[in-house]
Amino acid sequence: MALFPAHFVEELKHQADIVVVIQDYVQLKKTGATYKGLCPFHGEKTPSFHVNRDRGFFHCFGCGAGGDVIKFLELHDKVSFVDAVKLLAQRFGISLPEPEQATDEQRASTAEREGLLKIHEVAAAWFRQQLASPAGARIRQQLDDRRITPTTAEALGLGFAPAGRDSLKQALTKAGFSAALQLRAGLVVQREDGTTVDRFRNRLMIPIARDTGSVIAFGGRSVDEGQQPKYLNSPETPIYSKGRTLYGLNLSKAAIRQGGFAVLVEGYFDFAQVYQSGFQAVVASCGTALTPQQGQYLRRFCGKVILSFDPDAAGQGAAAKSCEMLVTEGFEVNVVTLPEGGDPDTFVRRQGGQAYLAELKRSTPYLEYLLSETARRHDLNVPEERARFVDEALPIVNRIPDRTRQELFVKEVAARAGVSEAAVWPRITKVVTQRSAGPSSSQLPALGQVTKAEKALIWWLVHRPDEVGQALAALTNDDLRGFSARSVLDLARQLNEDREFSPSMLFERLSTADAQLVTGVAAEPEPPALDLDWCVREIRRGRYERERAEIQRAIAQLQRSGDGHNPEMDRLLALNGDLGRLIQGLVGSDLKGPN
Ligand SMILES: [Zn+2]
Repeated sequence: MALFPAHFVEELKHQADIVVVIQDYVQLKKTGATYKGLCPFHGEKTPSFHVNRDRGFFHCFGCGAGGDVIKFLELHDKVSFVDAVKLLAQRFGISLPEPEQATDEQRASTAEREGLLKIHEVAAAWFRQQLASPAGARIRQQLDDRRITPTTAEALGLGFAPAGRDSLKQALTKAGFSAALQLRAGLVVQREDGTTVDRFRNRLMIPIARDTGSVIAFGGRSVDEGQQPKYLNSPETPIYSKGRTLYGLNLSKAAIRQGGFAVLVEGYFDFAQVYQSGFQAVVASCGTALTPQQGQYLRRFCGKVILSFDPDAAGQGAAAKSCEMLVTEGFEVNVVTLPEGGDPDTFVRRQGGQAYLAELKRSTPYLEYLLSETARRHDLNVPEERARFVDEALPIVNRIPDRTRQELFVKEVAARAGVSEAAVWPRITKVVTQRSAGPSSSQLPALGQVTKAEKALIWWLVHRPDEVGQALAALTNDDLRGFSARSVLDLARQLNEDREFSPSMLFERLSTADAQLVTGVAAEPEPPALDLDWCVREIRRGRYERERAEIQRAIAQLQRSGDGHNPEMDRLLALNGDLGRLIQGLVGSDLKGPN
């Protein structure tokens, strides 16, 4: 964005009619205030793709794609922001300004990233060609043996890197890519004698893409018996970081967003089989433990994960770390253990997609699963083992945030260990609040859920930008903590503070996922709420409720520890009272009605 002056992009978007641009690709029909057509981003027979000419955005109610005219070109033509701007300028005969604002370094790195994306795109196409060629027959047979249909292979963009030492290098050089860029992309490697050869030779090629679909790396799987290593991956590059990428999200994000959950599998082939079976809300971790960055990335699409790993592996190593991280990131986590000791790949091939779906429905909450696993590790007929089991189970029970479920767990632990519940309870140290003490879950928004007040603010941001300044200025950083649309509203606040707020400016800075959220709300014909003051009060009330719930948890904990009279308790009780009054005040002003 630093490449073009802001006013230039604004002016360009003003000139470039979004309906005219999209009509180059999609047949649009005017219905009421908006235009409708068949979505170019997912297959459909009835139009759910909307274009709002006045507000300058598009949104698909089917797959969630959305954004401004620049985002449309970025997604549709798979080009960078800069290229999309150039295309638009060309199309509407507007001359580009000198890129005065960019430093040489910025220019170099932007150009490099664009080059890297381009070279991956060309390499992916070339690998696909090789798979389709006579030389790829052996690999096509292997895919067939693994029960991967040509349709799935195409959807996944699978390809083949032939055995020659530099076939790809020659093709890329012929296509005009410099030797330096080929090296930087990790598609060729330099030998000690200075010569360069293809990194991927004689391998099945699996492209790894961003959720927008741009290919940024490759996984290469061995195709011969004994060929080492079994998997060879692209190195980290300026466009690819393993710890920030989830395999398959480009294909599955719409299904994940729609269902509100994702099934997490381990490998490419697990992904391929599950996806092929018709169940599309799936992503693959590709072996290693998930990083918090991957968790946050996934958090933009759903709040629940069902972990479907090898049965032996789920409780340990990478899988256990992934579960712990997901729980910490606020996901609801379930674990599915497949019978017959198979991975999802094998299971789906043998039993079919329906049977797999049935297993998913039988998945167990992670903590319950941990308890069963702990019990399994001990011979509960031996007294010392029973004691050890209770010791190991206690930390699990302590982590259950819900009193009723915790009681069930204590029962279960006691029953398995053959001791009385009364013997277990004193050993539970950190006890959660009684349900009645905190706000009920219906008062607090579920994680990942966008509240009505947030939606209303977003709607107004797009449709009545001149009227939201005051509401944005009234909200603080603290008010927005914990809210799902925080990144959108924070951005709007910043722009508002810098006196730069406009819907167009907002769209430009939004991530692809946030743009979908915004266009999804803005595409609704009516605002979710009419009173902006109410929205601000509602968000603040949410904040106070959250803070009060935390304090009440702390109070209950102190009470449990039976620590008589404690000055800390006085402080907490006072805070609890203050927050209660603040909340009452906010609710009270609602009763008086808007004024
Ligand atoms: Zn769509």
